[in-house]
Amino acid sequence: MIDTKEKLASRLSLTQEEEAFDDRDSTAFPIKIPSHFMALINADDPTDALRRQVVPTVYEMEREAWESLDPLSEVAHTKSSRLIHRYASRAAFLTTDVCAIHCRHCFRRRFTSTAQGAASREEIDDAARYLADHREITELLLTGGDVLTLSDEALEEMIGAFRARRADLVIRICTRMPAAHPARITNALVEMIKGFDSAPFYLMVQFNHPRELSAEAIKAVARFVDHGIPAMNQTVLLRGVNDDADVLQELCNALVFNRIKPYYLFQGDLVEGTAHLRVPIGRGLELEAELRRRLSGLAMPTYAVDLPEGGGKVPLTTHYLRGEVQPGVWEFENPDGERRRYWDPPTDRSSSTPR
Ligand SMILES: *Cc1c(COP(=O)(O)O)cnc(C)c1O
Ligand code: SF4
Repeated sequence: MIDTKEKLASRLSLTQEEEAFDDRDSTAFPIKIPSHFMALINADDPTDALRRQVVPTVYEMEREAWESLDPLSEVAHTKSSRLIHRYASRAAFLTTDVCAIHCRHCFRRRFTSTAQGAASREEIDDAARYLADHREITELLLTGGDVLTLSDEALEEMIGAFRARRADLVIRICTRMPAAHPARITNALVEMIKGFDSAPFYLMVQFNHPRELSAEAIKAVARFVDHGIPAMNQTVLLRGVNDDADVLQELCNALVFNRIKPYYLFQGDLVEGTAHLRVPIGRGLELEAELRRRLSGLAMPTYAVDLPEGGGKVPLTTHYLRGEVQPGVWEFENPDGERRRYWDPPTDRSSSTPR
């Protein structure tokens, strides 16, 4: 594992921008590159798409006025010490601040790697009680940090505590482990999780570039899918990594081929020190429109932005619906630029609304 600039310099010849990053600055997000991910980096290419995700540059020290450490106001939506209840039907539990990899674009920097460790038994019980009192919550996201940095035993205890109060909750395992350190995903882990199948689990992974889908990563995800746990991917749109229609097309098709549904393509959040990795929304919309022309419905992710100040996630898309041109007549423009009209049903036949 690479966790200092010195170790990094023994593996890569650092560019001027990388060299100028001060890893001794206590406000800097530490370097952490697991050996599996390091081996996927092409050391001869200073612009390598995987390198850009994990090797810091001096640009991280730049702060814009509109950026923050908590752009989604998650702190304000925190209900018990680690439970974020932002949307009525689902809640996110910050299982641990530890990750196997430090992504330079991480939007949860305010929390990630802050030496708080795994949630205590008390914090888990507090969250479980909140979930028991809020039956409108149907899904629980186990996130962090990375939930799979917990030991099998710790995770078993945590899931057991949530299941004891809410056997009916759909649980999402949110992890970057298949891309970062796939060896963590063993049959024993997946079988332990399956032991709690009073309600479904979903595996939520993050692959940002097709080269992250190594043979080991594919095998790690397959362990879940073979056990009946569906896999979904959340990609972060990143400048110089995947802001290219060919790269995203290859990524999405490779995901589908490996039974991973492309779920979201995220616009970068306004996190301090990540401006150099963000893509302008206009460019993102162009890519979204191009992908819609090229990809199947199954392979197409939803491009979305998590709005600042806790505004929540909203989809970003070119407006195919141009408007209601006459009462009940809607005009559309398809991805090829052709216009079509769609007629609403006659009002005298649309009154029998099912109850
Ligand atoms: C993104 C997010 C969710 C899940 O949202 P979906 O659109 O259902 O995937 C839940 N809670 C928080 C705090 C989130 O940021
Ligand atoms: S694995 Fe997730 S939480 Fe950890 S640094 Fe990467 S993006 Fe952030």
